[in-house]
Order: sequence, then C-alpha cells, then structure tokens
Amino acid sequence: MKILVINAGSSSLKYQLIETDTNEVLAKGLCERIGIDGLLNHTSAKGEIKGKETPMKNHADAIKAVIESITSADYGCISSLSEIDAVGHRVVHGSETFSGSVMITDAVMQSLEECAELAPLHNPPNIVGINACKEVMGDAIPQVGVFDTAFHQTMPERAYLYGLPYEYYEKYKIRRFGFHGTSHRYVSERAAKMLGKDPKDCKIITCHLGNGSSITAVDGGISVDTTMGFTPLEGLPMGTRCGSVDPAIVTFLMEKEGLDTAGVNGVMNKKSGVLGLSGVSSDFRDLEEAAAGGNRRAAAAIEVFAYSVKKYIGAYAAAMGGVDAVVFTAGIGENGVGVRAKCVEGLEFLGLRIDAAKNKTRGKEIDISTEDARVRTLIIPTNEELMIALDTQAIAGK
Ligand code: ADP
Repeated sequence: MKILVINAGSSSLKYQLIETDTNEVLAKGLCERIGIDGLLNHTSAKGEIKGKETPMKNHADAIKAVIESITSADYGCISSLSEIDAVGHRVVHGSETFSGSVMITDAVMQSLEECAELAPLHNPPNIVGINACKEVMGDAIPQVGVFDTAFHQTMPERAYLYGLPYEYYEKYKIRRFGFHGTSHRYVSERAAKMLGKDPKDCKIITCHLGNGSSITAVDGGISVDTTMGFTPLEGLPMGTRCGSVDPAIVTFLMEKEGLDTAGVNGVMNKKSGVLGLSGVSSDFRDLEEAAAGGNRRAAAAIEVFAYSVKKYIGAYAAAMGGVDAVVFTAGIGENGVGVRAKCVEGLEFLGLRIDAAKNKTRGKEIDISTEDARVRTLIIPTNEELMIALDTQAIAGK
C-alpha cells in the first residue's frame, strides 16, 4: 500500500509517502512558514525542490502543495491522488482514550479536541493537519491517527501515578503519560529482532536522545515506565528543557524573578537544559566543540546529561529486575559517539561493556557491545514515519 505520513506542526508540515510492501520512502518533504508565506522542500527519486516559495495561507494549502509535488511529472512518484491508499497522522497526545492507533472518525475527532487541553502546543496543529487532509482529499482516503502517548498506556499504576492528591488525577488526569512512544516502540521491536528473541522475552531500555529526550523501560514488548511525564518536560535535561527538577524551584523562581506562569514555563522549556547550563548551544555538536576548547560550562552540561541517562538506565534495570539490551536512538543517540560512551561508563557491573571501535559508528543499526558483554548496547536509527505507515496500513487495510 502507498501511505502518506503527515506530521503537522503549528507552522510546518513534514510528510513521507511510503510503499509499505517494500518499506521504501517514495517521496518526502517539509512545508515551512505555513500561515506566513510558505516554503516547500521535496525529494523523490526523480528530483528535488529546495526552499521553493509556495504560498501557503493555511495547512490545506500545504497539503495541496504536497499533493502537487508527489504527483508532479518532474518531481513526483505517483500519477494521481487516487494512488494514495491511506493517510497516517502523527498525533502527540491521546490521553487515556487511545492506547493504540485508530481510524479517524467524527467521534475520534471529538476525543482529539478533548485531549488538546493536555497538549495545547501540539494537538491543535495535529487536528488542523487532519482537517486539511479531509478538506483536500475528501472522505475517500482513510485517515489514521498514531499517538506519541499510546505505547505508554501499558504502564502500571505505580509508574504513572504521582505522589499528589488522587483527586487531581481524577479531576485533571494529572499522571505520567510519556511521549516519543512511536520511536520507543519501533526501536524496541528492532532490538528484539537484533537479539534474535521474541519481544515477549526481552527487557529493553530504549534511550531516545534528541532535541527532546526520553528513556523507556520495555518489558516483554510493552512500556512499563518512561521518563517523560504529564508533559514532555519531565525526565532528562534536554536541549532547552530542564527535565526533572525539585518542584519547589518553580515557585521560588516565580517569586525571586517576578515571573508569571508563562514566564516560568518559558524558562523551563526554552532557556534550560544543556543550553541553559552551558550558555553556548542546545546542540551537542556545539557543546562538544566548546568543551574541547576548554569551555567548562559546556563540559558540565554534557556531564549532567550523560549522568542523568546513566541513572535512568540503572533505575529501569532495577524496575524490570534485569536488562537484555540498551538502545541508543535519535540525533544524539545515533551520532553522539562521546556522549554514548559517557552514558554507559561505569555500568560494567550491570553487564554493559562497549567496544570503543564499534562505538565510532553513526546512524546505522549495530551492536556496539564487546563479545563478552552480558547486556547488549545497540544503536538503532529510529523510524517513526515507517511505524506510522505500518500502523496505518494495518488499520486501513482491514
Ligand atoms: P528532534 O528531537 O528535533 O527530532 P533529533 O533527534 O534530530 O532531534 O536530534 C537533534 C540533536 O542531535 C541535535 O541537537 C544534536 O545535539 C544531536 N546530534 C546530531 N548529530 C550529532 C553528532 N554528530 N554528534 C553529537 N550530537 C549530534
């Protein structure tokens, strides 16, 4: 089947057209500056369009530009819209309503609107993307929603409840949801294949380390704990997000700095993490360069990050009563040679031992453990788009 995968943000829209019979990406691209002016980037085997000014006053215009590109005689890969069998949409928050991917119906749209309160920055553009596809493509092409939170709905109560008055869970659904679920699911399934085992027989710790980072404990193929929480702010310190901090810091800072809720949210989401610590950059390549040049704060930021990853690996090995493999994925996980080494340094007692030469690999599926390591350390490039396409095929193909 040919599945169009859509990831709609507030002013951008990423897409891939995937042939699920071969897992081949037929075309991919990015619409930017939607609602401002509009820029199109598109690639297929026939050619590419780079940063072409294309008026996009809304997401429907962006979808029209996508369809024009993929059906274009010069740059396209299909001859008409009717060749698209289904559309799969990335949706960030599915709350407790969605524990798997679903066919989008009117009732589902209603539930998505209700979930939007929990992800005010992400769900509304996802909804706009779905509506734009419906507007441009009509009802003939099935649309499927794939949620970042769904994989984590298997977490037991002891992992998802916070030590807060229970009534807030009941009233506001304040609980751990977890994010990056599609990525954690994809790499944990690939890891089981690399181990030559049934996912049911594996304890895997998946480290998705990118601009946003999270770690998940996957026991028997299901998520049993994860570092992101009620929002994607909890857990590891990230590019610009603070990760877990003493909650009393929030009110302390508000008082001392005269910040309102938006102000303190801005500090914790946009000015913290390794950017805030280093004062240099949120990008680990810049941090490594600065640290190599003697910048103490950049070096400290890398240490804080890697130490936090290491602590969660230990915590999740304890939570699962063992671990068979630790997976590194996403920008830093796939490419950060030095950071990866720091994250597992000192974990030999757990059975992790990496081969320094193999660890030099970037962006490729590989087991970087030494022969004698009891626990395998794997690099697995994530592929959320493929996972969305396969889910969409499974649901729309029925
Ligand atoms: P996003 O969460 O936006 O999808 P990515 O998974 O693409 O992010 O990760 C982006 C991050 O990956 C960058 O900020 C950078 O820190 C890191 N990264 C990319 N390449 C390298 C590299 N060669 N070495 C270290 N870090 C890298």
